[in-house]
Amino acid sequence: MANIIDGKLISTQIKDEVRAEVETLSEKGIQPCLAVVLVGDDPASAVYVRNKKKACEYCGIKSLSYELPDQTTEAELLELIDTLNADPSCHGILVQLPLPKHIDEEKVLLRILPQKDVDGFHPYNVGLLSIGNAVLKSCTPAGCIELIKRSGVDIAGKNCVVVGRSNIVGKPVGMLLMAENGTVTTCHSKTKNMSEICSKADILVAAIGKPKFITADMVKEGAVVIDVGINRQENGKLCGDVDFDSVEKKAGYITPVPGGVGPMTIAMLMKNCLTACKAINNIN
Ligand code: NDP
Repeated sequence: MANIIDGKLISTQIKDEVRAEVETLSEKGIQPCLAVVLVGDDPASAVYVRNKKKACEYCGIKSLSYELPDQTTEAELLELIDTLNADPSCHGILVQLPLPKHIDEEKVLLRILPQKDVDGFHPYNVGLLSIGNAVLKSCTPAGCIELIKRSGVDIAGKNCVVVGRSNIVGKPVGMLLMAENGTVTTCHSKTKNMSEICSKADILVAAIGKPKFITADMVKEGAVVIDVGINRQENGKLCGDVDFDSVEKKAGYITPVPGGVGPMTIAMLMKNCLTACKAINNIN
């Protein structure tokens, strides 16, 4: 039976570490500050935003909340971002996605100063990640790496397979694993012999968006299995991209869904807010 990687526990450890550093910064009269921008009334987005604000409170990070109506124009949103970019007391800007259809998401994300891009989505930060110099790493991929490392697993030299190549999960996870000296293979919908490739992985990351897609026959005995997927089943319950019940019997380590990668995203966002604040204030 695999060791279960407890994302709730590890994410709390990370938030506690952030909180301790925030306390130290307060002695210098500095408080990290995150601006969270929500446009429209999508209920799922409202929950995400509330959870981010709660995490800020826990860590001692100031949060500024901008809840804008659905009819907000692109120009108005860009103007708000310009104001936040220019505000020296604001260190992180997060625009909750998805945005209403009349607003160009890419244009908005490009407008955020890379130094304040705590989601790590700006092409400048993606570029730094690809050359191994990332400062603000995208949160979910960075969370995957923390889960592996904090379970005591050394990534260096390991055969790592990532299933999924999206810009927000698959690609950055692959780059981060490579930065940790893993030997990385990326699979996607056009990959041939995927089962065979996966079954050779020491570390297998699933970011596909297909419920229980990775089955035990695709997993090497003792492998580390990180399940990024969040899928709603017909019975209303959440499940991952990995068939947990069968894979758990074969893997060495596995993340559950929920309670694995999920809680790490916000913890890494808090870490990025702290990192951005320190960088802006020239603190190591
Ligand atoms: P995308 O839909 O953007 O990407 C899915 C990837 O999986 C694509 O690269 C696609 O390949 C690949 N894929 C799809 N079908 C197959 C297949 N049959 N065989 C091999 N590869 C396949 O999804 P995301 O990366 O945004 O998200 C992936 C999952 O992670 C989702 O369940 C999402 O909800 C979850 N997620 C969880 C987060 C968290 O905080 N825990 C955060 C973000 C996402 P191709 O490129 O060829 O189309």
